[in-house]
Parts: sequence; structure tokens; C-alpha cells
Amino acid sequence: MKNPFNVRKIADNTYIIEQKTKYFQCLTYLLLGREKALLIDTGVNEGDLKGTVDTLTNLPVIVVCTHGHLDHIGCAWQFGGALICEADDKLLENHLNQAYLKSLMKLEYSPLFCFFYKRPINRLTTPPPVTLWGHLPETIDLGERTIEVINTPGHTPGSVCFLDRKNRMLFSGDTICDWGILLHLEGTGIETYLQSIKKIKAIENDFDDIWPGHHGAPVKRGTLDSYIACAEGVISGDIEPVRHKRKQIATYEGILITLKP
Ligand SMILES: [Zn+2]
Ligand SMILES: [Zn+2]
Repeated sequence: MKNPFNVRKIADNTYIIEQKTKYFQCLTYLLLGREKALLIDTGVNEGDLKGTVDTLTNLPVIVVCTHGHLDHIGCAWQFGGALICEADDKLLENHLNQAYLKSLMKLEYSPLFCFFYKRPINRLTTPPPVTLWGHLPETIDLGERTIEVINTPGHTPGSVCFLDRKNRMLFSGDTICDWGILLHLEGTGIETYLQSIKKIKAIENDFDDIWPGHHGAPVKRGTLDSYIACAEGVISGDIEPVRHKRKQIATYEGILITLKP
């Protein structure tokens, strides 16, 4: 199998590791401190992420996930486990359960789609090996580099962002990206998401770039404001989401937010 990982240095002691498989594009990040390294997210369970990380550092690696979705927890088993926000405990349990993942696919896609894409769906709904999970602390000390954990429920109840204040970087998982945010599957209500985005907006002078879990990186400037405007527009009624069979989609200036049907 072709190595799905592509490494790029984005700052001193900081790497983006892009995982490109046939069906997924995931972004994970490796941050090196003086004593420890931090791996943020682990993609889907394809390829040797541990081997890739081992080419970049000899430091002990702390593995954290921005949330419990299968495209963020996939390779955590290669490291023996990961830390996650406890508000995603139930979701994580579900994403390690094949029957649940299959039911999620049925909720998202039509029976015809599921029939024709049986093989990829089988592959995607095969959970990674169950491993040890712990809960995230408020800060993670890597040695002369401290990473803050910011709770940003919305995309999932336990979604978090990681702030590297010293290096002025924010790692946002699926809470902010340059394409759209999905709240319709396992998300909270849009009000909670708006509060989370406003929490990030309130500290925007503490970072220069936002590094997301998918799509283009870093996220374009102004995207944060677009999510706030979109969420506020939906809540006030100024933006009317378009109804689809399985979700509603609200759009604003190049981004979108999906909502439950
Ligand atoms: Zn997600
Ligand atoms: Zn994701």
C-alpha cells in the first residue's frame, strides 16, 4: 500500500502530517517541545503514522484527539492510546463500534449509495483496535512549550481546540476549517457552536494562523468571522438554511454549517 502520509514543516519544531487515502484527507500535527512531543489527531486507520512520527522525533509522544470521530482517532492504537475530552466518551465508544458506524452511514447516505459503495463503507465502518484512552488536562507541558486545551463543543460535545500561545498557532480539528462545519450528525445545537466560535474569536490576538483537521491549511483569515455571521444569521432567521433529505445547510461567504433536518 502506498504511504498515505506527507510531512511538511510549518514552523520551528512543528510539522503538519497530511494523510491522503482514497476516501479521506486528514491533517494531523506534530509539535516538539524540549522534553516531549505532542501529536494532534491521528487520521483514519490507514498507513503507518507511528513510523512517520518516528522519522521526525525521538521524544516521548503524547497523543491527543480534537474529538472522537473515526477520522481523528484511527491510528491512535499505534501509539497505545490517546487523550480526549470526557464529553466525547460516549461518542468515542460509538466510533469504536461497527454496528453504530454502519447505522451512521445509513443515516448519512441513501440505500442505493450504500449498496454501490459497499466495499468502501465496509472499510470505513471497521473500527480501529480498541486502545487505552485518558482525558485531556487543561494544559500540556512539552518542556518550554505549553499547549492549552480549549473546550469548543459544537461539531461534537467534546470537541476541543489546542492553543500554542508561544508560537501563535491554533489547532482547530473540525471546529473551524475553510470549507464547512458539520453539526447535523453528532453535533450540539448551533447556539453552543456559536458560543465556542466566539470563545476563539475572543482570543484571536493570541494566534496568527488556524490549523484545521481537514481541507486547506492554514485556514484563510476572516473565516472565523464568517462562521460567527453564519451561526448568528441562522439563529436570528436572517439566513435560511436549505433543506435536504438528511440535513439542512446554511451558507455564508464561502463556508457552510450543516444542521439536523
Ligand atoms: Zn469530526
Ligand atoms: Zn474530521
